[in-house]
This record gives sequence, structure tokens and C-alpha cells, in this order.
Amino acid sequence: MGAPQPAKTAPLASRKSGQPNTVVSIGDVRFGGRKVVLIGGPCAVEDNNQMTRTAAHVAAAGGSMLRGGAWKPRTSPYDFQGLGAAGLEILAEARKASGLPVVTEVLDPRDVELVAEAADMLQIGSRNIQNFPLLREAGASGKPVLLKRGMMTTVTEWLSSAEYVLASGGSDLVFCERGIRTFEPTLRNTLDIGSVVFLKEITHLPVIVDPTHAAGDARYVTALALAAVAAGADGLLVETHFAPDQAFSDGAQSLSPEQFAALAESCRAVARALDRDL
Ligand code: PEP
Ligand code: MN
Repeated sequence: MGAPQPAKTAPLASRKSGQPNTVVSIGDVRFGGRKVVLIGGPCAVEDNNQMTRTAAHVAAAGGSMLRGGAWKPRTSPYDFQGLGAAGLEILAEARKASGLPVVTEVLDPRDVELVAEAADMLQIGSRNIQNFPLLREAGASGKPVLLKRGMMTTVTEWLSSAEYVLASGGSDLVFCERGIRTFEPTLRNTLDIGSVVFLKEITHLPVIVDPTHAAGDARYVTALALAAVAAGADGLLVETHFAPDQAFSDGAQSLSPEQFAALAESCRAVARALDRDL
């Protein structure tokens, strides 16, 4: 099977001959520059105390952005669905207290305006990778978009989804590889490091990795993060909670503050070995 040829299907996302990397800037945070951007935070926004404490330990470890889902795409409708708009207010408080810009997932095209007012970057989650109305709304919002790979999308399909965002007026887009479903059930997903290498070549846009949803278990997150930085990822998105065993969602894969700090330190060493930083 030959490599995909996205120049025709995804012209805006594709790198033209000689085109330099696009840097996506959010305040002082620069995706696609020399520094590997570390984003940390819980799976879900739970309350003020949780987010303020988390923001502090993320910043102390050298993290430069805060995450947390106000709306959660849960497999079961009976699981915690997130605090919704109230979660956005909590994120805004934590952002004010820490100075860290915030990325949060938007699930519904009708919420894009609201989320764009509160957040610095809109996350499109794995489950919405082909929700074309949502991609268009996010692209038109004027906010940078963090586009997670669908758990069952090929790189070519992922690029086409990015093209929806870019063709709707968005120019600041960051790809996020978070693992795909394969025949292999040992870890939650199979982290496709090759997709990072390929995208860095074929597109001019930044590519980051979420080792947490790929691993599904905190024990494996740091090793996957190291592999991602070694492969040239422009950033990491890592779930962390001050008390993972109390997390409302994804506690098993969330790092404690100490584990998060250790991940940052070891990934920094790899980044420096590659003449980058973190
Ligand atoms: C998340 O980031 O919390 C999330 C739900 O991720 P994904 O869409 O990759 O499953
Ligand atoms: Mn999660």
C-alpha cells in the first residue's frame, strides 16, 4: 500500500514544497516551535478546588497549558457527563489563578460560541472526528483547534477532517494522536507513533500526542510520552489529577502530581537531546 497523497484532498493542511512549519500561538505558548508544549489537567472538570490545585501542579512541573473537559463524551449515558457551562466558569477561574491558557472539548456545534468565549483552544474529541458540522463551526470560531484523531480514522481521513476546519476559516490547527483501535487490546488503544512522523512530513501544522488515552493505565503513560517526544511530537497532552483514585473519569490513566512532574522531567531530557526544550 502506498503512502496517502493528501495534496489534492487536503490542500490547506498539506505542506507545499519548501513550506516551513506553521507555529500555532496561544499567548506565549507556541505549538510547532522549539519548545515541546506540555498540556496537563484532569479528564473532567469537577470543581473549583480540583482545577485550581491541578493548574498549580501542572505549572510547577513546567506545563504550559491546562486541560479539563466541561462536557464529557461518555460511552454510557448514565456516566458523569461533565458540568457543562458551569465547568467553563471553573476553567476560567483556574486560568485566571494560574495564568495558564485553557483547552477544553466542545461536543455540540451549538456550544461552540460559548466554549470559544471561555477557552483559548477548542478540542475536537476522537468521537467527533467526522462530525462535519462541528468541524465547520469550530473552524469558523476563530479559535485554535486541537483535533484529536478518531479512534478508527486513517491518517488520510484525519487530514480531511482537518481540512474541514481550515476550509471554514480556521488557520490555527494542531493535530493530536491519541491511539487507535487495532486488533491489540492490551493497552486501551494502540499509539500510532508513525502517524506523528508522517504528519510532521506531510503537513506544516503542529502535531502533539496524548499518551494517556493511548495507554489507559498510568503505568504506561510516561514511556509513551518519551517515545512521542523522541519521534518529534510538538507537544504532549497528559491527564493528571491530584487524587487519581477520586477522579470522576479516567482515574486509572491519570497521573498523580508527582508522576506528572517526573514525566515532565524525563521528557525534558529527551527534548534537550534533540535540541528542543520542554
Ligand atoms: C479527553 O481528552 O478527555 C478525551 C475524551 O479524549 P479522546 O477524545 O481522545 O477520547
Ligand atoms: Mn479522558
